[in-house]
Amino acid sequence: GLASRLQNVFGKLRGKGKLSEEDVNEALREVRLALLEADVNFKVVKDFVAKVKTQAIGQEVMKSFTPGMVVIDIVNKELTALMGGTQSKLARSNRPPTIIMMVGLQGAGKTTTSGKLAKLLQKQNHRPLMVAADIYRPAAIKQLQVLGEQLNVPVFTMGDKVSPVEIAKAGVQHAKDNGSDYVIIDTAGRLHIDESLMDELKNIRADIEPDEILLVVDSMTGQDAVNVAESFHKQLELTGVVLTKLDGDTRGGAALSVKAVTGCPIKFAATGEKLDGLEPFFPDRMASRILGMGDMLSLIEKAQSGIDADKAKEMERKMRNNEFTFEDFLEQMEQVKKLGPLDQILEMLPGANKIKGMKDMKVDDKQMGKVEAIVKSMTTEEKRKPELLNANRRKRIALGSGNSIQEVNRFIKQFEDMRKMMKQFSGMMGNKGGKNNLK
Ligand code: GDP
Ligand code: MG
Repeated sequence: GLASRLQNVFGKLRGKGKLSEEDVNEALREVRLALLEADVNFKVVKDFVAKVKTQAIGQEVMKSFTPGMVVIDIVNKELTALMGGTQSKLARSNRPPTIIMMVGLQGAGKTTTSGKLAKLLQKQNHRPLMVAADIYRPAAIKQLQVLGEQLNVPVFTMGDKVSPVEIAKAGVQHAKDNGSDYVIIDTAGRLHIDESLMDELKNIRADIEPDEILLVVDSMTGQDAVNVAESFHKQLELTGVVLTKLDGDTRGGAALSVKAVTGCPIKFAATGEKLDGLEPFFPDRMASRILGMGDMLSLIEKAQSGIDADKAKEMERKMRNNEFTFEDFLEQMEQVKKLGPLDQILEMLPGANKIKGMKDMKVDDKQMGKVEAIVKSMTTEEKRKPELLNANRRKRIALGSGNSIQEVNRFIKQFEDMRKMMKQFSGMMGNKGGKNNLK
């Protein structure tokens, strides 16, 4: 991901107190490339890079931070801002029903998303009605009806012999008459934007005056998604965008450009074909996805306040060389405690859940107390040389710490696993090969 590329750039730097223009330029080359690769609109990339540059140059690099982290942090904040900063909520009419019109190209996921949205609203104790206004695609009405049956959400249809405008209008009336507080209008799409489609949508819009016109776009289509969003927005004044198929391997470039180019907020992110795959869109989460680093950023933020950089470096050196001892373990535990509950920290590490044995590793704070007692029952020599711990010694430690031999064995095994894991993780924070001795 972009994050690791940035780490690589900065891995080469030494002893910088402030970020120089040269450092920043080198980092921004990576940012530019990564964004273009993620299929972000060229102009958006250009503006973005300029903004980050202004902020990054001269930025103080704190002791607990590497230059890579500083730039990642700025990039992350700017990405988040570019996508609207905060979550953009679904409109709610003062005079129910709230009318939501779903528009978009054929196959973008309008019908599926209508169902998902109905489910989401239903979970919030609303009473949605879905309206089948796609009279062109064979079986489109049936598709919506099937979704309605699955969800136990009513579907309003008038067959395919009545105009979509009339269907939409009658559908809204039906919602009013039957106490539905949300109406979701599933409209027809085309393979490409054409005038007759736009005219039809404009007519529906003029007639029912929707509270939301949500454009459903397939995030896999990258740059095309942006062009589609631009044309739809020009003609219909969209109120929001739903990005679908984010379960694919898309890097989220469309998300960035759509908001930046049209100014339209992204309101939902859709994944999968199942009906529970719709979530409100959170710009900060998408930024992390684009950076390719899970919730690493929150961890960086926490580390910024908690961990002593010099100590962390020394620990890292030890981990790399497999010199990590039980004494270090205790010390590390003290540092980690400052960050908060351990299982939360592990969750934030990208890839942590993929490491074998990690899932079974009980890491609640109570367990930590036990572990602390075990380590403290070891002799100094044992703490420094884990390989000394034979059966006899383990028995003594068990008695001394008030634990069973099995518990002691389990912990020692976990310690060994952890050592291996740390070796894998070291380098991730930008100190590959120990070249970076930033002060
Ligand atoms: P419409 O023509 O815009 O109404 O699109 P549909 O709702 O009929 O969806 C077209 C296809 O995309 C269907 O096969 C859906 O199951 C699939 N689809 C819709 N949304 C998603 C999504 O978020 N992820 C994935 N993987 N498939 C989706
Ligand atoms: Mg459809």
